[in-house]
Amino acid sequence: MTPCILITGGAGYIGSHTAVTLMEAGHRVVIIDNLCNSSPRVLDRLRRLCGNSFEFVQADVRDGAALDAIFTQHPVNSVIHFAGLKAVGESMAQPLRYFDNNVGSTISLLQAMDRADVRRIVFSSSATVYGDPQQVPIPETAPLKATNPYGRTKLICEDMLRDLQCADPRWQVAILRYFNPVGAHPSGLIGEAPSGVPNNLMPYITQVAVGQRDYLSIFGNDYPTPDGTGVRDYIHVMDLARGHLAALDHLANEQQSITVNLGTGYGVSVKQLVDTFSRVAGRPIAHRHVARRSGDVAACYADTSLARTILGWQAEHDIARMCEDAWRWQSINPTGYAS
Ligand code: NAD
Ligand code: UDP
Repeated sequence: MTPCILITGGAGYIGSHTAVTLMEAGHRVVIIDNLCNSSPRVLDRLRRLCGNSFEFVQADVRDGAALDAIFTQHPVNSVIHFAGLKAVGESMAQPLRYFDNNVGSTISLLQAMDRADVRRIVFSSSATVYGDPQQVPIPETAPLKATNPYGRTKLICEDMLRDLQCADPRWQVAILRYFNPVGAHPSGLIGEAPSGVPNNLMPYITQVAVGQRDYLSIFGNDYPTPDGTGVRDYIHVMDLARGHLAALDHLANEQQSITVNLGTGYGVSVKQLVDTFSRVAGRPIAHRHVARRSGDVAACYADTSLARTILGWQAEHDIARMCEDAWRWQSINPTGYAS
């Protein structure tokens, strides 16, 4: 039987784009998702893009029996673990829910993988593990310090994976630290569909552009950055998806665990992103300057040299392309998957 890749959280934003990229590269895919932050309509869209070349299991990753059944029924040889909760503010209000879901699901998954003799895993980490960075661009060797419960769940999972590699060298682990994923598949069929008020900048901009929100609040214009607004490393979700393919190839070919930043290496300010989006979409984005958001850092962007050297991967799409694809997705699907 042809081996396949298990994707946890594959109905979510990054997972669905990665699933398409893997299937387009000829891989067979099994998705497990409890749909706590995604819509079953994603699966119809994936079928439109890739046919029936994947299986979907609606289950919680903390359910060990459900995982055992997947490993018994499918010849899984690697896992990409996206499933998790990701809202920083929510994690501060409900820390136990975040530790239970994010750390609990990772423990459950690693135990099931061990039982099934599958020890190749790509883990979704985040630039949030660098806390308030002392230097930019940020290399992977920078000190790690989470500043909120969400970030701590990522650091705990990273630590668990490092301990596991030390204890048993059969484990092949790729920890990928994403910077700011934005954009959508060029078809406009899948994209980012946050429930409720978006926390992140790009979906907020696209919802203002489509008339669902009146204006964007720009948090802070007095940062020590060229135009005073916050600077981040926005990366096209299709480039990010390709990074997962490169990481899997690396693990299979080199059998060596890695921790790698996935970003473009370029910092872009809120103002630059808003201006580029307005130009690409051909409409102004109403906005107001308000106070800084608590916990935000001035600037955060990646040193991407390690990804280039060891994965032979680099981001290809620029900010204009990220805005173009995000806008196509939002304008075709004004209310996301409810459209
Ligand atoms: P998402 O919420 O769109 O996708 C996560 C998916 O996991 C959802 O479909 C959700 O239903 C599912 N899920 C959550 N807990 C589950 C559980 N216990 N069992 C089964 N399914 C479960 O989020 P995303 O933006 O695609 O992020 C994917 C991963 O990347 C997350 O781990 C996130 O922390 C990480 N990450 C995201 C960003 C970002 O800005 N989007 C940045 C850095 C890291
Ligand atoms: N931001 C903003 N208005 C919003 C959402 C975000 O001005 O409604 C700013 C935020 O202060 C930061 C940047 O946009 O400088 C990216 O924020 P996001 O939440 O998308 O990513 P993160 O801060 O987690 O890197």
